[in-house]
Parts: sequence; structure tokens; C-alpha cells
Amino acid sequence: MFKQQPILGIVVPCYNEEEVLELTVVELDAVLGGLEKEGLVSPESFILFVNDGSRDRTWPLIADLKERYRRVSGLNLAGNVGHQNALLGGLMTAKRHADCLVSIDADLQDDVRVIRDMVLRYREGCDIVYGVRSSRQRDTWFKRTTAEGFYKVMQGLGLRIVNNHADYRLMSRRALDELARFSEVNIFLRGMVPLLGFETGVVYYERLERAAGESKYPLKKMISFALEGITSLSVKPIRMVTAAGFAVFAVSIVMGIYGIVSNLMGRAVSGWSSLIVSLWFIGGVQLLSIGLIGEYIGKIYREVKRRPLYIVERELPPAVRSAEAREHEDPAEREGAPAAPAHALS
Ligand code: UDP
Ligand code: MG
Repeated sequence: MFKQQPILGIVVPCYNEEEVLELTVVELDAVLGGLEKEGLVSPESFILFVNDGSRDRTWPLIADLKERYRRVSGLNLAGNVGHQNALLGGLMTAKRHADCLVSIDADLQDDVRVIRDMVLRYREGCDIVYGVRSSRQRDTWFKRTTAEGFYKVMQGLGLRIVNNHADYRLMSRRALDELARFSEVNIFLRGMVPLLGFETGVVYYERLERAAGESKYPLKKMISFALEGITSLSVKPIRMVTAAGFAVFAVSIVMGIYGIVSNLMGRAVSGWSSLIVSLWFIGGVQLLSIGLIGEYIGKIYREVKRRPLYIVERELPPAVRSAEAREHEDPAEREGAPAAPAHALS
């Protein structure tokens, strides 16, 4: 199932990256060349640059690189759709021609040398290999703190997200095929990929500085990215509203008793008891109702995403099969090779 010489595709989303592309292509081409020489990947391996509606000369540059490097290919999106969507577009396009894909940013911040380790893990049978930063020394204090806070919050919300892993990862063709079945449109890949299951591996690397150009993720984009991640993967914030509703409601009962008792004992200013009791009571009822409506909205949200309910890793069919089924069988399988799902072979 896992080819020993897979066709490896490297998918690189690019937004206004004219300054860095020349450097990037040299590095990635060298990596592929090296892997090819070692016999670790097929000579048909390639690099796909996805132009995410850049406003600079990124696309003409990609077209030019394609002429100069035999491994380079390009995909031009009609407009800027953002990193995650551009990356998904690239992955879905490239998976048609590859056995496994590595996604990496254009800026060479992720150490390209660990692509080799990713391929080795793939050959050992990993469908997904995460590139994880072993330290963030090179990041600015601000980026480091916000990013660490973000991962903490995500994990606190019970999301299966890999710490310090950005979108630098290898995925096998069948993992990508399963990812394609997630038909949601709010895409947060690093939260979705762990939902696939499958055998996964991790490789570590030092995060470097951007080779050229500047970050395409200013604070505003970072905040919306974080919010997107949380709201597209978790309904926990809704639960918190419901919980707050219950808490306020409980307090309203206590306050109600207190108000009535104070009144009976003649300790309350006239009008205070009725005011305080209704204040808490209405507050509690309102929060509870909002939470309840939220629960339904959460359900609708999960419903419209139409995510696959299960993903098959492998099927072991019975030895005795009908003659008809045997006729359609793959000859390799009949010789005792492990059965693989049809899509992993095609
Ligand atoms: N990118 C993209 N579309 C966008 C913004 C960014 O395709 O709208 C790409 C960008 O070219 C780069 C990657 O996403 O390859 C990550 O961006 P960047 O390195 O600027 O983010 P940072 O590393 O600062 O978080
Ligand atoms: Mg970067």
C-alpha cells in the first residue's frame, strides 16, 4: 500500500511572494533531487506553486520557473481566498498526480530538510506526518506568546490539535481522499487533519526566520484565523453560555429566598425584594434560553458540515468469496499481499 518510491508532490501556497520564490524553488528542487538520487521518491515527484491571487509578480514568476525547472508546476487561483483555502485547492489538485503530498509555506521558515524524514515515516506506513517546531526562539516575543496562548485555548476546548504544528505536514493520497469528504466550507486544516485518524508520525525541526519578504499574517488576520479555528471545530463556547445560564438561574433561586426572607423579617426597603428577585430570575431565564437555542444552532452547524461519520483504514475480506467477486480481484492481492482499499491503489 505504501510505495517505497512514491511520487511526492510539494504544495506551496503563495501570496505576494515574489521576493522569496527564487530561493524557495532552489531549496525544494534540491531536496527532491536528493531524494530521487537516494531512491526514496519517484523521479515523477513535483512541486506545485499555488498563486493565491497575488498582487505582485508572483504568477508570472511561477510561469517562468516552470520553464526553467522540470519539477515545477503552477496553479493560479482566480482571486485571493486565503492561506487555508489556497492550500486545500493545491492539495486537491496535486493529489491526482501524487502518492503523497507535503504542504509547506513559501517563505522557507519550515526546515525543508525534514521532508526526507517525512518521506521515511511515510514509507514506514504513516498516512500523516506532522512537522512540529521544537522551539520558537526565532519568532518574535509577540508571535510566540500569541501562538502558545492559541494552542492552549484550543486544547482547553478539547480539540485534537497538534501543539506547535502549523501547516507543514505530509499526507498520503488516501488521507487526502478522506479529507476531500469533509465538505465544510470553514476550513481549518490543522484541526481537521487530526480528525481523520490513521497512523500518524511526527518530525521535529527548528523554525527559521522568513527567508525574504514579510509575514502575510498581520494581527488582524491572526485573530480571525484563531476565531475561525475555534468556531469551526468546537461548540464548547455555546455550552459555556448554557452553563452560565444554569449558574445564574441557581443564584436567582438563592436570591429569591433571601429576598423573601428579608422582606418577611422586615429588613428590606420596600420594593427591593421584588426588584432583585425579578432581576436575577429574568437574567437566568434569558441566558438559559440563549444557551438552549445555541445548542440547536450548534447541532445545525455540525449537520450542515456533512462530515463523514467514519473513515475506513482497512478491510479484511473473508477468504471465501463468490466467484464473481474473485474475478474482479486484483491479482497482486490474490498472491497474499495485504488487502488495501481500492482508492489507495488507484
Ligand atoms: N498565504 C496565502 N494566502 C494569504 C496569506 C498567506 O497563500 O492570503 C501564504 C503565504 O504566501 C505563505 C503562507 O501562506 O506561503 C504563510 O504565510 P506567512 O508566512 O506570511 O505567515 P506566518 O509564517 O507569518 O504566520
Ligand atoms: Mg511564514
